[in-house]
Amino acid sequence: MSLTNTPPTAELQALDAAHHMHPFTANGALGQKGARIITRAQGVRLTDSNGEELIDGMAGLWCVNIGYGRAELAEAAARQMRELPYYNTFFQTSHVPALTLAAKLAELAPDDLNHVFFAGSGSEANDTNIRMVRQYWALKGQAQRGTIIARRNGYHGSTMGGGSLGGMAAMHAQGGMPIPGIVHIDQPYWWGEGGDMTPEEFGLARARALEEKILEIGPETVAAFIAEPVQGAGGVIIPPDSYWPEVQRIVDKYGILLIADEVITGFGRLGQWFGSQSYGIRPHIMTIAKGLSSGYQPIGGSIVCDEVAQTIAQDEFNHGYTYSGHPVAAAVALENLRILDEESIVTRVRDEAAPYLANAWATLTDHPLVGEAVSRGLMASLALTPDKSSRAAFAAGPGRAGYVCREYCFANGLVMRHVGDRMIIAPPLVISTSDIDELIRRARNALDQTLEHLH
Ligand code: PLP
Repeated sequence: MSLTNTPPTAELQALDAAHHMHPFTANGALGQKGARIITRAQGVRLTDSNGEELIDGMAGLWCVNIGYGRAELAEAAARQMRELPYYNTFFQTSHVPALTLAAKLAELAPDDLNHVFFAGSGSEANDTNIRMVRQYWALKGQAQRGTIIARRNGYHGSTMGGGSLGGMAAMHAQGGMPIPGIVHIDQPYWWGEGGDMTPEEFGLARARALEEKILEIGPETVAAFIAEPVQGAGGVIIPPDSYWPEVQRIVDKYGILLIADEVITGFGRLGQWFGSQSYGIRPHIMTIAKGLSSGYQPIGGSIVCDEVAQTIAQDEFNHGYTYSGHPVAAAVALENLRILDEESIVTRVRDEAAPYLANAWATLTDHPLVGEAVSRGLMASLALTPDKSSRAAFAAGPGRAGYVCREYCFANGLVMRHVGDRMIIAPPLVISTSDIDELIRRARNALDQTLEHLH
């Protein structure tokens, strides 16, 4: 729909409020305020139905890695729709887009992560992972190894499986999650929970919580540990450097499977193809979605190591989705990977955009509201605080500083998300250095206005 023949905003908002149930939204409130309606996008910029322009500091939902408006992806979709719009990959059939994409992912993924099981989203892929690791241990004659250890404030999706792996208390409070066989340990969130420890001491302590949990429930019952290399939806929680090497030592020691949820960190966000490579993590399975197609089509999956895939192959795996390896989504993902590769977008994140953002973002620490300003690759967060020295939190509630700041960001033409007191960004990987400057300028204005509002 072009802007010229789009009905007026109020009309669209009324239809939306009457009929559209939004995810993660108190839908009742939309009746009064009305949703912001996005009508088009190009590069790193969105346009809404009032013609306002916004810098998309979140790349949609952390997914539009190559930026908006790449006609090559639209053409890849149209070509594939004309040739073979749909076929499934059940019952010993395959098709060229799915098998080519699987082979390409095997080439990009580190070590012996050579096999791909496709899903329609990150949540579905994590549901696959629950099934797959349990089936793996059953085929190894250790069916008692069914428990998966995950982390509080981690995010792994919104299905019953994904939401249970996630450690979001507000999600668990609804609908009977977590499902049995999933337990949680604390997160490596130094600013919020590190107390008097140095970040390094704290990182070790939180990694050792994994060993304590393994010993508490019995190593012989543990199937896997799942974690995001950097927690995204939890507030862009960047673990201390001591954390991942110690986690790796522990999973190796007890021989449990390691699942790296790369739904956000995959496809260049941390300046390597996968976040695991940035942290030296050696997972048995990586969850992927989002940046795999830059969000242009819904597609996700699990990239699986030789040992797990070969074991699973010993029996029929009674699991799959109608849209596993959907040909149009796979064709679009392949075109997206070609662009990421040929335009050296991942290398540019590593060598140019990430160091530039790190310096520019760090300048925000002089702001009276900002306790810490941290980034890794093109993920960054600010901790808002009423008192930098005690790292205090603001009182929770609808008027919370993070919420107020997010609203001022919108008013300044910037999409920045808040998670409690944390303000977070993860812009398209193609963001230019001048747009990073503009993003920081808008963020600083929003912080100034938030400060004024709170006083
Ligand atoms: N895993 C991680 C780390 C995510 O950030 C998300 C979504 O934000 C998911 C899984 C779920 O992906 P989807 O929303 O595609 O189901």
